[in-house]
Amino acid sequence: MNYQAILDDIYGQVMGIKDRGIVASYIPELANIDIQNFGLHLKTNTGEEFSVGNYNRGFSIQSISKVLSLALASSFENNGILNRLDVEPSGHPFNQLALLEIENGIPRNPFINAGAIVIADILVSQLDNPKQDFLDYVRDITNDASINYDFKVAQSEKDTGYRNYAAANLLKSFRNLKNDVETVLDFYFHQCALHMNCEQLTKAFHMFANRGKCISDKTRLTEQKVKRINAIMLTCGFYDEAGEFAFEVGLPGKSGVGGGIVALLPDHFVISVWSPGLNKRGNSKLGMLALEQFTTKTQLSIF
Ligand code: GLN
Repeated sequence: MNYQAILDDIYGQVMGIKDRGIVASYIPELANIDIQNFGLHLKTNTGEEFSVGNYNRGFSIQSISKVLSLALASSFENNGILNRLDVEPSGHPFNQLALLEIENGIPRNPFINAGAIVIADILVSQLDNPKQDFLDYVRDITNDASINYDFKVAQSEKDTGYRNYAAANLLKSFRNLKNDVETVLDFYFHQCALHMNCEQLTKAFHMFANRGKCISDKTRLTEQKVKRINAIMLTCGFYDEAGEFAFEVGLPGKSGVGGGIVALLPDHFVISVWSPGLNKRGNSKLGMLALEQFTTKTQLSIF
């Protein structure tokens, strides 16, 4: 398979598209990004790497980080995650609050904001220095000590994160938040503000395509946990567009409002794409298109 030719072809196609969606602005700091950016990086399990565009320019990974926080929380045994969260697609936007109220403070899944805030609470309880330890974990699975938080983005979200404060307070009222709201959200905003490029994201997600072994060959998750996390990515990774992503692309994956998407085919490859313009559901418009083109041209998907 000539992956580079396929990526070049996709790149040519997307760069000709005028309507690139809209950059997220509800976190003011994200609005400063140039919508013309586009990057893509592919890494096969046999070790080959291919890329196009701004694949090595960093961006705010936002909700993509929820997979990494879930992976770390899952690696601690006996923390009762499944009593505090469900694993059903919500069919609603990532920041919707109505279901949380109706369902007595049990978030539908770990990838909507309320669910990720519960995972953040678990990490705050389990880790000695939560922000530093989580950063060290991401650096370790990626084998890249240069990865860091973008503190301006974290502060910007803290200043305007009214809905996440509402979600955390609602969780607290249902006794599904053990630590105080401020501490948990401070961790959550930093987690979302991880600054990474497509190549680093592909490496970080290698363990989900490689039965739990990360890039340096250390086992960081059991095969059963990898299976479960991949299943949640497939069913919940794109919120109210999860069905569409499975239909068009056919891979487990996760998006973020910074315009990144990571997707993978277990035992075969990880692919990351970045295009900051979002569609109406908060997922990268050209990123979705590029991945649809990739699985169509290569005929590689889980289906
Ligand atoms: N930090 C963002 C928020 O909580 C993450 C949302 C996303 O990327 N979908 O709103």
